[in-house]
Amino acid sequence: MNARPKKSFGQHFLHEKRYIERIVSAISPRAEDFVVEIGPGEGALTLPLLAAAGKLTAIELDTDLIPDLKARAASVGELNIIHSDVLKVDFTALAHRRGVERLRVAGNLPYYISSPILFHCVEHARAIQDMHFMLQKEVVDRMAAEPGSKVYGRLSVMLQLACRVEPLFTVPPGAFRPPPKVDSAVVRLVPLAPEQLPDADPERLYTIVKAAFAQRRKTLSNALKHVMDSSAIIAADVDPKARAETLSPLDYVRLAKVAIG
Ligand code: SAM
Repeated sequence: MNARPKKSFGQHFLHEKRYIERIVSAISPRAEDFVVEIGPGEGALTLPLLAAAGKLTAIELDTDLIPDLKARAASVGELNIIHSDVLKVDFTALAHRRGVERLRVAGNLPYYISSPILFHCVEHARAIQDMHFMLQKEVVDRMAAEPGSKVYGRLSVMLQLACRVEPLFTVPPGAFRPPPKVDSAVVRLVPLAPEQLPDADPERLYTIVKAAFAQRRKTLSNALKHVMDSSAIIAADVDPKARAETLSPLDYVRLAKVAIG
């Protein structure tokens, strides 16, 4: 306990009790849930989650934190620690191995890789019931942003096409040791049911969204000129003179459906 936090692992340990309680209450784990925590650190969330669920799987990259965490969890419940980079953990295989249909994923994420972790979870969304993450507030704002907003972008479109995005509350820097430079926020993500998912090729969709927002000040016909021509944009019922930030996530799905190759 009270290890020296490592900057390289994005370690900011949550110590303020009321925020810990709010997160655990937002998750409300039950005995039948299979909860997976990303980055347990010193166990601020791990121990109360374990107490509520009885068992928990935690994925931690920093070897130094593991012995102490194991010792402190021993009297609380059944803690299974996977010592790995979370990006290498196949959540779908993990659910199958444990004989459950879907996992509940939670974590106060290391901010230096929060977007890759989000996309990794979205890739395994079918094996996930819900996610509760602490992230930089600015990232949560981008995830939940609506078309026309300054912060609406690639992350907003891709996440909203995969999940219901529910920002929950803000957490100030002083709640962590050491305090991060920015405000944080907790968000709930609920993967959409298979029938609500976009019926477009995911790679094509990603290519179009990426190209459109790479030049967000340009018209779509300009930004997408290497990906699709204006007649295809019109065929998708989208104005080629519009800008990326004015299109809804479903507009992007229609673009991906008419784009060739
Ligand atoms: N959950 C703890 C808390 O709330 O106090 C710690 C949160 S701290 C922001 C992020 C945690 O993620 C650290 O324990 C860090 O070692 C771990 N971590 C960093 N990179 C990781 C990775 N690639 N895979 C798994 N865990 C990682």
